[in-house]
This record gives sequence, C-alpha cells and structure tokens, in this order.
Amino acid sequence: MKIADIRAVPISFPVPPEKSVRLGIGRSVKRDAVLVRVETDQGHVGWGEAHHGRCPGAIARLIDTTLRELVVGMDALDVAGVWQRVYRMQLASHGMGAAAALALSGLDLALWDLRAQETGWPLYRLLGGSAKPIKAYAGGIALGWQEPAALVEEAHGLVAQGYRALKLRVGDTARRDVARVRAVREALGDEIELLVDANTGYTLDDVRRVMPAYDELDIGWLEEPFPAWDREAYLCAAALGRTPLAAGENHYTRYEFGPLLQDGAVRFVQPDLSKTGGVTEAMRIAAMASARKLTVNPHTSATAINMATSIHFLCAVDNPGYFEGDVTGLNPFRDEMADQLPYELDAQGCVAPREGAGLGLKLDLDFIKAHPLIEGPCYV
Ligand SMILES: [Mg+2]
Repeated sequence: MKIADIRAVPISFPVPPEKSVRLGIGRSVKRDAVLVRVETDQGHVGWGEAHHGRCPGAIARLIDTTLRELVVGMDALDVAGVWQRVYRMQLASHGMGAAAALALSGLDLALWDLRAQETGWPLYRLLGGSAKPIKAYAGGIALGWQEPAALVEEAHGLVAQGYRALKLRVGDTARRDVARVRAVREALGDEIELLVDANTGYTLDDVRRVMPAYDELDIGWLEEPFPAWDREAYLCAAALGRTPLAAGENHYTRYEFGPLLQDGAVRFVQPDLSKTGGVTEAMRIAAMASARKLTVNPHTSATAINMATSIHFLCAVDNPGYFEGDVTGLNPFRDEMADQLPYELDAQGCVAPREGAGLGLKLDLDFIKAHPLIEGPCYV
C-alpha cells in the first residue's frame, strides 16, 4: 500500500476577548492547527496534527511541497522508513529546523492513524500497550495571569470537574507569581497537585526569587523557565531549590532530548507528539527517559487528534506520567472536530484511550472545512 497523496489542512478559530487568556507567551487571540491528510493508492486515509509553529500557513506549505515530494510513492505502512527519509533528506541535511519537525510530526501521526485503522486495532494496542487509566492534570490555555481571587475560582471549578492536579501559568513578576500560586495552594489544600509553567519567561534571577516559595508550597514541577537551548540556565536553576524542572514541548527529536536527559537538570520530560517528530519519535524519547527512571508527560497541542493520540501513546509506554487535559474555556477543535470528545475525566482524575480502530474518533470533515486558516499571530 503506497502513499498516493499527502495534504495539509491549516485550520483556525478566533478567540473572543472575553475568552482570551494571558500567559508567558502573550494573550491568545485565535487558535490554529495544521491537520495532515494521508491517502493511499487503495483509497485509505489517515489524519494527523502538526503544531502550527505560530505560522500555520508556512507549516502547511512545507508539508504540501517538500514533504509531499519526499514521501509520495513510499510504503504507507513503513512509518520508520518514511520518518528516516524525511529526517535524512530534510532535518539532518537541509534544516528548516523546528518547522520540518512539526511537519514531519503531522505526517507521522497520520501514518500511525492509518496503520491502526488497517489492523482494526486501537492505536495503543498496535503500539504494544493496554487501556490503563492515565492520570490527567488541568492544563491547556487556562489558569493564566489573573487576580488571585479569579484564579482560585477557576481552580475550584476544575477540581469540581475531577482534576486532582492543576497547572498554573507563571513567568509574570516573581512577586505576582508567588502570590497567585500561594492563593491557590491555600484555597485547595495539600491534596491537589500544583504545577507551574513559565513558558520560557524567567531569568535565573527570577528562579532564585520564586524557588523558596515553590519549595514551601510543594509545587510538583516548574515547567520551561527558559528557552529549550539554554542548557546552562537549566543546570543552574536545578541547583536553586528542590522543585523539579520540566521541559520538552520545544525540544525536537531524540537528538535534542539526548542532551536534555544527559544534563539531568530536568526531571519531567514533555515531548509534544505534534512537534517532536510524531508517535515514532516520542516512543524513542520515552524509552530514553525510561532508562533514566523518568516519566513522559506529553505536552498537548490544539485538536482532538493530538489529544487522543497522546493518550494512546501514554498507554503504550512503561513510564507514563500525566496527560495534559485541555481545560481551555473555548476550544471547538477539542469539542466539535470528531463524533465524540477525545477523552473524558473519570472520578479519580484519570483518562482512558478511545476504543475502536485507529484513534477511536470519527472526524467531522464538514467541521474541518468550516474552519479555514486565519492569517496572523495567535498570541499578541
Ligand atoms: Mg508549557
């Protein structure tokens, strides 16, 4: 069965001001994703999701031209072979850096969807896993920079939904960050796990200032204090307190996770399946983390495809950490893109993979068609 065509479908929706959230990368004004449709010469179709990279049109173009030229005609079931060809001809030799990794991720997810549909198995089973419960935390674009009272109210609502772990957005000033985190800890008590994410917004001096409070408030991890490349800063920050560091959503392929793991400064590994090289590469990264006794806690992208795939992935590794539940107030790409939601939270705050062939979701093609690309930035 050969790959007959691949096509990128960039999609967007506007976020109205009253639903906008502020965090370390700006204020959300729209959401984007790049879906990837793979069709075989026998008419079989798989769908994947590539992260938008803050320029979805460019990612889509890369898929529709460069990737298409590389892989049309290849065996659609040879996902490792397709991965290797794109890696060798593009990532390893001609750059495009993150953009090529995002594009390859979407293609890889689509090929795994296709493979799983071919077997008639849910993806987790094809990957060698079982349908075990995966603990989830409340993440996505939520719990942002707001007054402590409003943040506490939002946090209470998420605990009422069943979440036993919440991720707050920091990376504001050290004083305001600590005030927000302290208010939520005091309101929710010690039984709820609290995580924080600086979205690369901290300096080393910021970390020195916030770390004593995060230690005292028993924060489960401090995510992305710095950009992915800043290995020295991660090493220094890890020595400033007991709160473990987390990173990985902006690390691409096992070749960037290698040094991250080797440094040992980061204790929670967070590859995004739509960014780091797809299921194929995330499985390799999970094995590398497993060898160091670390869990994988995949970062969640925009749509039901990434969310469902991430849960299948977590069910197929021996070191699953958290699934990042998307508690963004408004996300039709999560709620309306398929015949059912990508996941539901159970009474223990866990999620489970969807059964049925592939991802276990039936995509609504009319919905996809009704959300064409909106040009411009998604955060301002
Ligand atoms: Mg993050």
